[in-house]
Amino acid sequence: MRQEDFHTAIPTLPSAPSLVASDHDRRALLAALTFVGRPPRSAAALASWFEKHLVAPGKMERPAYVTEGFSKHVALGLQVPAAPDASEIEELVDAARFRVLAALRAFMPPTADDRFLAAAVDGGRVRPTGGPGPWEPCPREDDLLSDIVLSLFAADILNFREFHEAYLCVCKTCLRIDFDPSRSGRTGCPEHEPTATVSVMRRSGPSL
Ligand SMILES: [Zn+2]
Repeated sequence: MRQEDFHTAIPTLPSAPSLVASDHDRRALLAALTFVGRPPRSAAALASWFEKHLVAPGKMERPAYVTEGFSKHVALGLQVPAAPDASEIEELVDAARFRVLAALRAFMPPTADDRFLAAAVDGGRVRPTGGPGPWEPCPREDDLLSDIVLSLFAADILNFREFHEAYLCVCKTCLRIDFDPSRSGRTGCPEHEPTATVSVMRRSGPSL
């Protein structure tokens, strides 16, 4: 995938009525979709995303820094004398976003690789609540930014697995997220055919 494809392929927030009408807490999913759909482009924007979606709801302490696999810690706090280079934050956010979307793409059929769910549970980044939605995110500041975002997806997928297995769509080509498989299948998007596998299956028959 070319870099510009990745940047222009901003997923839209889902309009699925089941999300809006749900009685259950879907804030973790909305937080995760906000991150991948409108990725924060500055330290201040990233700090405010944390504040709104994780710190204020009591899911996490306010992080002083963020990190991703390749990077050093990048400071987020207001007490930092010099704001971090915007490109440093953008690079970190883009890398985290790409890793998150790659994990979700692997979760799509036919591979249905759900190891990121087990990793979130084993890593203590999600925990049982005892309430009606039995899992909630509980990441820590020294977790990778991608693991923090994945913990949000993981909590919602653990709580609403059937919903995700029926509706979650991740385009194999541009990684766009949607919740309407009737349009382009679960691995396509309005601009990209679902998958070669599906196309071949549709065309195959006794005449081939
Ligand atoms: Zn696409």
